[in-house]
Amino acid sequence: MPVGVGYDVHRLVKGRPLVLGGVEIPFPRGLQGHSDADVLIHAIMDALLGAAALGDIGQLFPDSDPHYQGASSLGLLQQVGQMIDSHGWRVDNIDATVVAEEPRLASYIPQMKAKIAQTLGMSRVGIKATTSEGLGFVGRGEGIAALAVASLERSK
Ligand code: MG
Repeated sequence: MPVGVGYDVHRLVKGRPLVLGGVEIPFPRGLQGHSDADVLIHAIMDALLGAAALGDIGQLFPDSDPHYQGASSLGLLQQVGQMIDSHGWRVDNIDATVVAEEPRLASYIPQMKAKIAQTLGMSRVGIKATTSEGLGFVGRGEGIAALAVASLERSK
């Protein structure tokens, strides 16, 4: 069973919506990036692509391509799911952790899980949220990090 790992960081800035796991979360700042900068979905996509040995999101969706300006990361996740499927895999399991000092994310996690599961047509999605105990760039509220692992199984 192939397993992949993904990791991503985005900076928190004023004047951007905060989108995590496809859910817009009320907060005075949002993540900076070329797409909607959904750091959780980005880590998950890299875990999926890693498990299938299909490269990474920087290769697939380069930020030099204006097509991806403001792109919904859920839409990109759907494309990754289709690639995985076309290579004869199905997603068995995803597990991820978001590291953010604030806001509190627990109440949004069920929605995030539902959106990701629906986008990929699977059901085993784990998402946890933790803080950095005030340490480092996450602890200072300068950015949000996410880690993910994914496992695949043969579909045919
Ligand atoms: Mg990213």
